[in-house]
Amino acid sequence: MHSLIEKESQLLLQTYKRLPIVVDYAKGTRIYDIEGNSYLDFLGGIAVNLVGHSHPKILEAITTQCKRYMHLSNYFYQDAQIAMAEKLLQLTGYDRIFFTNSGTEANEGALKICRRWGNQRNKKIIIAFTNGFHGRTYGSLSLMDKPRYKESMEPFLDNIKILPYNDAQSLKKEVNTNVAAVFLEFIQGEGGLEETTEEFIATLWGLKNKFNFLVVADEIQSGIYRTGDFFAFNKFNIGPDIVTLAKGLGGGLPLGAILLKESLANIFEKGMHGTTFGGNAVACASGLATINEISQNLIPHIKQISKYLSEKLQNVAKEFPQKVIELRGRGLMCGILLNFEASRLVESLLEEKIITNATSKNVLRLVPPLIIAENDVDELIKGLYNALERL
Ligand code: PLP
Repeated sequence: MHSLIEKESQLLLQTYKRLPIVVDYAKGTRIYDIEGNSYLDFLGGIAVNLVGHSHPKILEAITTQCKRYMHLSNYFYQDAQIAMAEKLLQLTGYDRIFFTNSGTEANEGALKICRRWGNQRNKKIIIAFTNGFHGRTYGSLSLMDKPRYKESMEPFLDNIKILPYNDAQSLKKEVNTNVAAVFLEFIQGEGGLEETTEEFIATLWGLKNKFNFLVVADEIQSGIYRTGDFFAFNKFNIGPDIVTLAKGLGGGLPLGAILLKESLANIFEKGMHGTTFGGNAVACASGLATINEISQNLIPHIKQISKYLSEKLQNVAKEFPQKVIELRGRGLMCGILLNFEASRLVESLLEEKIITNATSKNVLRLVPPLIIAENDVDELIKGLYNALERL
């Protein structure tokens, strides 16, 4: 066993099931281990590395910012933060932003906003959905139903109801004037790549118009052009009141955000909410370089390569009807529902030097960098054929 693996097991809290790879460096769509093996990366740092590893424009933005300053705190006006906010709001059509360090912290802030907005109107209930994933802190966990994330960690927040995902009838039954907010993933990243249906969204917005509550879109995994559009919800003709982002927002550095409509601009008074690192200048500079690169140069590519990937995956599904139950997801956020444990396919693909991961037990998840080329897809497909053949 490599000494790093041994030390990790002795020094770190054993919360992660790591891949057996000791990394040397990573570039583009590839990760290289210390033995010189090259792996094709269809995990992308769990949907983080939108423009691949070590992108020169991101490296330059980070270096330039580091030479000026790295961290000052939110006591100061910083151009990197303002430039990032301006670009994000321009690209998304939202009006206000609060920067965080992570996804779960963005959801915690959104929860506080919803509670305050609800308390001002005597609305107490927050609704979330089965199989959702919103993060590991107490607020986010309170919005989730899966026992494996919550076991023996009670008590969680009260006045939260978790309803079946995509079940319009249960929404109609449970939603009333007492509802302050609904938290929703339009594509469930950790929950098996299920997508909201037209009917469900139409019902939700019908109820919203009737009862007046906030809708929070958790676009932490599905956002920032992963589906071809900036948000997964852009498929529908609706606008959530609040959106949470993180993952690729900082171009590989920790950065999250809460986006809000102008009507919520004054929800907090000065000092009511804050963070030491959120909106860090280096993370903002890196994030701005990332969203500039995607919005200026990559959108047609994302649409074309998504179509190519989807067609090739459909061929795989046809070739292995006994093993592949269905294909899920959209754009470069794909899932393959298998009739066996997906971790077996992850291991088998690793033998092909392809990195993926399993989600929701029997779904193989593909969230590659948005820069993947046709030859990367061809390599994945060849690997999938070989791996599925063996299993
Ligand atoms: N929300 C969604 C949809 C996610 O996929 C994740 C992370 O996987 C989170 C929230 C939590 O983000 P973080 O791990 O940055 O706290």
